[in-house]
Amino acid sequence: MTAKPKLAVFKFASCDGCQLSLLSCEDELLTIAGAVEIAYFLEARTQQLEGPYDIGLVEGSITTAEDAERIHEIRRQCKFLVTIGACATAGGIQALKNWANVDDFIAQVYARPEYISTLATSTPISDHVAVDFELRGCPINKQQLLELIAAFLRGARPRTPSYAVCVECKRNLTVCVAVAQGIACLGPVTQAGCGAICPAFHRDCFGCYGPKEQPNLVSITTHYITQGSTPESLVRLTRSFNSNAPDFREASDALAAASDDHSQPGAAPCPPIEHSS
Ligand code: SF4
Ligand code: SF4
Repeated sequence: MTAKPKLAVFKFASCDGCQLSLLSCEDELLTIAGAVEIAYFLEARTQQLEGPYDIGLVEGSITTAEDAERIHEIRRQCKFLVTIGACATAGGIQALKNWANVDDFIAQVYARPEYISTLATSTPISDHVAVDFELRGCPINKQQLLELIAAFLRGARPRTPSYAVCVECKRNLTVCVAVAQGIACLGPVTQAGCGAICPAFHRDCFGCYGPKEQPNLVSITTHYITQGSTPESLVRLTRSFNSNAPDFREASDALAAASDDHSQPGAAPCPPIEHSS
């Protein structure tokens, strides 16, 4: 009998939500367990089988010196390494510390800051090791996770959309909140995958699936400013779960700079935002 491929799930700085997406595959969980050997998954199984592993799913971002070393060992152990979720692919919400003094945060949050050992930044796994595939979302979509595992088993590349959340709105017949209500929505620049949940409830998309392929942040943010949004509000919109994704980071930095200029007495209105790529 041929041995089943070995699957391992690793956690770094994160909330565990993406790992839970695997356990949330209720109807399909037994099929998954029948197709792969779940060799290492601390959240689900006490038994730990040694590597090497055929497929490694990595959740979470790198925020400590120890983790920056551990990810290299994991890369050596895994034939096919996939990052799951916004933390692992872009640094996550914890990457907001990349714009601040981490010691200030630590002093405000912890009663005994001297026990905390952390890097000044939160970075995606791909900043540290080569990654074979990145699954987006905060948390990831379980159907996309199933597609990923099925694609791996048949030796194919996973098919996940690179188009915008707007396409899902159109498919769902959701009335556009940007057009109908004048709400600044990141749907036009955000990768699809969630089913466009937020606009369906009459609110903006805040980009938890990260930038779509070739987003045009300059165009959309300039448009929202002409519609009355402030650069400050757009900085907050672009700096959330995927703030450290390069396209969102560049846009939010440009907006922050425009916001600073605008706040100077006698300063000109916010200039158009330069796109660096
Ligand atoms: S509501 Fe947002 S995501 Fe939906 S079509 Fe409008 S801009 Fe696009
Ligand atoms: S924020 Fe955007 S990508 Fe995230 S669930 Fe809402 S609509 Fe989907």
